[in-house]
Parts: sequence; structure tokens; C-alpha cells
Amino acid sequence: MKSKKLAEFYEEASSTTKRLEKIKILSKFLKELSENDRDVMYLLLGDIYPEYSEKRIGISNQLAIKAISKATGIGSKQVTKEWKLIGDLGKVAEKLTKKKKQATLHTAQTLTTKKVLENLRKLPELEGKGTVGKKLSLITELLSSATPIEALYLIRTLIGDLRIGIKESTVRESMALAFFPGLDKDGKKKAAKKIQDAIDRTNDLAAVFDIVRKKKLESLDKLPLQVGKPIKAMLAQKVNTIADGFKVVGKPCAIEYKYDGFRLLIHKKDKEVILFTRRLENVTNQFPEVVEYVQKYVSGKSFILDSEAVGFDKKTKEYKPFQSVSQRIRRKYHIEKLQKELPIEVNVFDIIYYEGKPQLDEPFEKRTALIKKIIKNHPYKIVHSKGIITDSEKQAKKFYKKALADNQEGIMLKNLKAEYQPGSRVGHMLKIKPEERDLDLVITGAEYGTGKRSGWLSSFILSCRDGNKGEYLEIGKVGTGIKEKTEEGTSFEELTKELTPYIIEEKGKSVKIKPKLVVSVTYQEIQKSPNYNSGFALRFPRLTVLRPDKSIKEIATPEEIKKDFENQKRNWRYG
Ligand code: AMP
Repeated sequence: MKSKKLAEFYEEASSTTKRLEKIKILSKFLKELSENDRDVMYLLLGDIYPEYSEKRIGISNQLAIKAISKATGIGSKQVTKEWKLIGDLGKVAEKLTKKKKQATLHTAQTLTTKKVLENLRKLPELEGKGTVGKKLSLITELLSSATPIEALYLIRTLIGDLRIGIKESTVRESMALAFFPGLDKDGKKKAAKKIQDAIDRTNDLAAVFDIVRKKKLESLDKLPLQVGKPIKAMLAQKVNTIADGFKVVGKPCAIEYKYDGFRLLIHKKDKEVILFTRRLENVTNQFPEVVEYVQKYVSGKSFILDSEAVGFDKKTKEYKPFQSVSQRIRRKYHIEKLQKELPIEVNVFDIIYYEGKPQLDEPFEKRTALIKKIIKNHPYKIVHSKGIITDSEKQAKKFYKKALADNQEGIMLKNLKAEYQPGSRVGHMLKIKPEERDLDLVITGAEYGTGKRSGWLSSFILSCRDGNKGEYLEIGKVGTGIKEKTEEGTSFEELTKELTPYIIEEKGKSVKIKPKLVVSVTYQEIQKSPNYNSGFALRFPRLTVLRPDKSIKEIATPEEIKKDFENQKRNWRYG
């Protein structure tokens, strides 16, 4: 396909903010794709590979500026100046390409999406000496052949900020509309669910599209769950009381510790063990001891387990909060030392696949029985997660207290008959935590500090996520809880380092940041506020920890915040 055609689609999709309009525009575009255009599905979301792949483009604003400069013959300083003025590097590329095209005779070749993907896919492969130069020529080659609107979207794709408002859910709805137009509302809903399930299972939009475009909805079920490729974890909903929880999941139900750790999805394929976070990141190298525990204490040749890894004190064996072990997720060096200092225990609570058979449709109680059969408990190494089955509120409360006394976050309530639904925030798995007043939010902006903090980002805008619209809504600013020195915890320096690659706009001291970095924030109270577009503000927010393991799709939603706001009012009223 001509890359210009894709750019024109991007343009059309950006022309409306209405979700239904976008779905119509995308469904028309999808119908025009040929079999050979399947990989365009990745480009629609600004990617070059399926979501399960860890290969990302990862081009900094600075390199993009250099490439624009090289391709247009306009100095980097001038490009940077334009960027400060316009605030969108894509628009800068468009403007400067237009200028150049007017000045020179257009002899460049027509770009195809195949060529775009070919060059972009080489970027993450480059390593070592001369990388920057090689990257620059791959990008410049594309830019030199690009028309102004192609240049606009090429640059936005490169810096990971496509801004066309197309999300996975838009693609799902558009596929259903494009290929099953005859279905009634209910039928369309079912088709969309089947498509979404297949996406969650495979994390490969093009693989799903291959089947959908042939209008073979039933064949989607056959898209295999693949051991070794990450799948999305099932997520929980929140309730405030055990009584409410019983109403939702039914009685009796399973009640388990809600461990204060991080999620690990454990794949074993023949002899190889691969570990993923719930963001689908491969963290096998960071946890060699887990690989060993799985090899030694879990029987079976191939399986996928779902678990929570929790830290404990090496001397007292007391469980420790997530903060204390969070650094293990990302540190790539001195692994052995960290392993000794910050040991973890793996608590297995689900099984998704076993010896060639997906377990997704098996009832929870059967899956749990299988876990018990194949895992030999080795405390402080790998164990079945602690749980009871009960229909008694009294017993449930006692267990809840025990979990808290054991330094855990709370409890999970699980319906005994329920299936495993990858990627969904399901109503048959619930979490209950004490009213702690904490939220997971994402940083979407910041301000550079002054004086002692000059050069560092020092005040951070926090946002929640409206899942339906895929929008990020601001709810406050945080500057407390962050340390001056990295040894003391999450520091300004660390945050600045983490966030700088995601800066998408700079104006004076303020920067706009692509929603990437999830953080946990405690607060004293949620207030209604006209100052932020979520309609709420946090009183006395304090950043407690970075959540590199959590995806932006898992952060607090406006509905949850509204609920917390109302609950807090109710609690005040009733003491
Ligand atoms: P939250 O992070 O507050 O949305 O709570 C859900 C998370 O709790 C899951 O994603 C798991 O990482 C974690 N968790 C801890 N213990 C369990 C358990 N027994 N069953 C399921 N999830 C658990």
C-alpha cells in the first residue's frame, strides 16, 4: 500500500473526535486493505510489531530533529526553534517538507508502507558503534521520499506520539463493523467480544485481522494461546466490603491473600522458563531464582502460571511491601547481589495453559486443583497462594485480618466457577483493601524546577484514564514524596531520566509528557475541582512508588475516582 494512503487515513481519522465517526472511517479503510497489507494493522496503533514483541522504535526527539534537518536541509537549530513554536515535531516536519518540496523538483520515489516498515524495523536491531548515524540514514531515507503529510505521521510514529485517537478498542469495533455489517446490535457486540478475546489471547492485531477479514468469526477461537508469547493478565474489580463482594461473586467463593508484590506470568516451554510482567515485558533475566524454582518445583513440560511475587526480609522472613522490591523488576545489573538482598516468594494463584491444553475455560476451582497437583510448596521460594473457600462473612473477615497482619494488601474474592479472561477487568475476581486512599495514576506533564532542582523535572501532572474514550484526564500535581538523592528512594533525577524520552511538547518550563509512567500516589482527600479536566483534585498527594510493572490501561478511571469521592463522603457521614 502507498504510505500516502495510510497518511490520508490518519488525517481523516484525526479530523473527528467522535468515536463512532472514527470507527466508520477506520472500518472503510480496513475493507480496502489487501492480504499483503496485514502489517499496516501495527502501524494503526503506532507500532511496527505485534504488542507481544518487545521491539519498539524508541527514537528520541533529538534524533528526529536531526533527521528532519538532514532531509530538508534546514539546520537543527531552526528545526528546534520551529518545534518550540509549534509544539509538535510532526507538524514541523510537515511544514519544512512542504517548503523543501516547493523549492526542489520532486524526484523522490513513492513510499510504500512496506518500505516504511522495513526501515523502521531495522531501528531496534541496531546496536553498538555508529548506531546513531545508521538510524539517522534509515529515517532520512524515508523522510526524503515523503510528502508533507507522510512526513508528519512518520515523525509522529517515530517519536511514539501518533495522536489520531485510534486505540485497540477502536480497531476491534471497526473490524466488527467492516466485516460483519449485517449483524444486529447484539450480534455485533458478540463479534466484538470474540475479536477482543482473540486480541487478548494473542496480542497480535494482524493475526486476528487475517481471520476477521475472511469473515470467519468462529475460527478466531482456534487462534492459539502460545506458550512463550505473553498474554494479558486477568484484572480485578474493586469492592469495599466483604458483604458486597459476596453479592458479586456468589457464595461460597475463594478468598485469597492479595499479596503486596508484582505480577509474574510464568511460561514454561520444554525446558525454557520465561517470565513476563503484566505489561508483557520479559523479565526472565532479572529473576534467575524464579526460573530455578519453576524448573525444580513445578511438574510439567509446558504451562503458563499466573502469580504474584512478593518480597520478604532475608533475616526475619517477614513479608515486605512492593516498594522494597520494585527495583528488582528493572535492574539489569548486579542481579545476584539483588537476589540475595531482596529475596522474593512466588505465590501462584492461577493456571492458564497446561501440557498443550488451554485452561482458560475451565472453572476456577478446577484450575486451582491443578495448581495444587503440579506445584510442590516451598515456602519463601514458590507456593500456592494462601486462600480459603467460605460462605461465612465471619470467616472471611478473620482471613482478611490475617492477610493484613501478614503485611499483605488485603484479599481477593473469586467466583469458583469462573473462567480466566485475559486482559479483562472481570466481575468474578474482586479486590478488597483497607481504605488507604491511594491511586495508580500516570504522569502526563511536568515543570522544570528552579534553584536546587534546576535541570530536573520537579512538579508532575497526574492523570487518570477514561478507558472508553482512551483519554487521559488530569487530577492533580505532585511534588512531594520524591527525594533529592537517588539512594533515598524515587528521586527527581530518576523521574527526569525516565520521563525525558517521553516529552512531546515543551513550552517555557512546562512540558507535556506521553502517558507512559505509572506511579502510586497517596492522598488525604479527593475534592471536586474545576482546575483539572477530570473534575476532581487530590488534596495533599504524595508519590509513593513507580509502578513500572503496571500498564497505563490499569490506572484509575474517572468512575473509580468518583466512587472513591462518594465513598469518602459516605464514610464521613457515618463516622
Ligand atoms: P490492583 O493492582 O490493585 O489492581 O490489584 C490487582 C492485582 O493484585 C493483580 O493484578 C495482582 O498483581 C495482585 N494480586 C495479589 N494477590 C493476588 C491473588 N491472590 N490473586 C490475584 N491477584 C493478586
